[in-house]
Amino acid sequence: MKMILETKDARPHKNIDAGQCPGCPSNLTTKLVMELVFQVCEERGQDPIIFGQGCGIGRDIMHRSGIGTHDSGAVGMHAAMEMRGIDRPLVVIDGDGQIDMGMDDLSGGFQYGAPYLHVVCDNQSFAASGTHATGMTDMFAKVSTRENGRIGGPNGRVQPRKQPAMMVKFSGAHYTATASPAFFRDFERKVNTALDNLPAFIQVFAPCTLSWGYDDQDSFSITKLGTDCGIWPLWEWADGTGFRRTHDYNESKMPEQLRAYLDMQRRYAHVTPDDVEVIERYVRDLNSLVDKMTRSFQAPA
Ligand code: SF4
Repeated sequence: MKMILETKDARPHKNIDAGQCPGCPSNLTTKLVMELVFQVCEERGQDPIIFGQGCGIGRDIMHRSGIGTHDSGAVGMHAAMEMRGIDRPLVVIDGDGQIDMGMDDLSGGFQYGAPYLHVVCDNQSFAASGTHATGMTDMFAKVSTRENGRIGGPNGRVQPRKQPAMMVKFSGAHYTATASPAFFRDFERKVNTALDNLPAFIQVFAPCTLSWGYDDQDSFSITKLGTDCGIWPLWEWADGTGFRRTHDYNESKMPEQLRAYLDMQRRYAHVTPDDVEVIERYVRDLNSLVDKMTRSFQAPA
């Protein structure tokens, strides 16, 4: 495994946008996470170890343990540090493609219980290698392997995306959340909370300008609108405090906001009014799930 990255004196994360698309939310997310991690570590007098890989995450800057193996990499490094009496916070930053390829690695890492933070910049595709679908690609979104966003031919089925931030809590995470860089205070609080409740996992909404097909000056608007319309609900789930929403969902505004969100992206240019109704139902179901989780996993009395 190639090692690592940053020290107090050399902080290449300040310049990880080299070679990345302008306006890339994955790139912004990575810089924000690193900045927050460094702030916390400075207060604690520690140097973090940050590694990972993904499109927009700084292709040539970050080092990685290998495709789909970042969690076992973190577990291995923690074991090695423990043997040598080293105490440095471990942070993994990668993309949803890595999660898909390493789902057993992810759940195994959290089940093992090593104290690390894993942040996923979720752009719903393997963007670096030609925009193939991942398990996190939203239904009807055009990618190179799903021309009309369906699985298996023109009339194939539609498939809701996976919810790794929920799955990983059942694997042993002490803290898990969804986040959006458009809601910075919420984002900041979640990174800080995660660092105090390891192992932790944060799945960040990171619309890809290239594969989603929108103009780069719209990256903030689309990242905010995706959250406001409810297709990317914000929530957190912590040991001790339970599951809760961190951004309101307004069902009466959802259809209009969802249409605006879809209209901004060329990956949805082919959808029909019937398709939009299916996506609306999906957003209602997803938010109903979030409400059920809130009722079911409350803080202990
Ligand atoms: S292809 Fe997408 S994820 Fe990759 S750098 Fe460009 S905007 Fe970011």
